[in-house]
Amino acid sequence: MTDAVTEFAARRNDILKRIGTAARAADRSVGDVALVGVSKKQPEDRIETALASGHRVFGESRVQEAEARWSPRRVDYPDLELRLIGPLQTNKAEQAVALFDVIETLDRLKLARALRKAMDRTGRCPSLYVQVNTGEEDQKAGIAPHDVPDFLENLRSEFGFEIDGLMCIPPVDEPAGPHFALLADLAAANAIANLSMGMSDDFETAVKFGATSVRVGSALFGTRPSA
Ligand SMILES: *Cc1c(COP(=O)(O)O)cnc(C)c1O
Repeated sequence: MTDAVTEFAARRNDILKRIGTAARAADRSVGDVALVGVSKKQPEDRIETALASGHRVFGESRVQEAEARWSPRRVDYPDLELRLIGPLQTNKAEQAVALFDVIETLDRLKLARALRKAMDRTGRCPSLYVQVNTGEEDQKAGIAPHDVPDFLENLRSEFGFEIDGLMCIPPVDEPAGPHFALLADLAAANAIANLSMGMSDDFETAVKFGATSVRVGSALFGTRPSA
């Protein structure tokens, strides 16, 4: 193993250990929480390092960037799991459906319509999560909490979509716990199984409140180069 692989594996093990501790404290098991490595904007050598250390679940925020990076690697790594965690434009729906295993940012009916069409055309059906704007921030994507039940019902009746999870990005200037709790309540009230919440700075809190996947970028790969 190269030094880089050893270092990555150590960071990953540390994060998994912290997830395990947070899970046990909440009477949950470490196996209930997936570690999604957010690889957006990370240099290629760090991706190679992550793959060499055995990591397989990655989150990306841009369709184009993700496709260039991951399509060629699908052949060599058939067990890859790719998750879209950034905003999706309708004109990229087909590309996204072709590439991703999970699309976590469904947030409007127009996008649902484009995804339905793309799925029918490609025959691929990624798992779908609805993004919830728990802080009701104007600049942030996502369905407002009180609109979630109607939105889910529309997705079911109009498009036949069964939603597998909810996802949120809490406001940066507020404690994350109440936002995670709100997302967990919404999931329970609407019989939704999965919760994508928690990032490098707050994934343990997210696990405490029921996260089934945490999206960890910088704590796993190192700081993203600002370029
Ligand atoms: C970038 C990003 C992350 C990872 O953030 P870190 O602070 O680097 O862990 C998680 N979720 C989303 C939606 C992101 O855009």
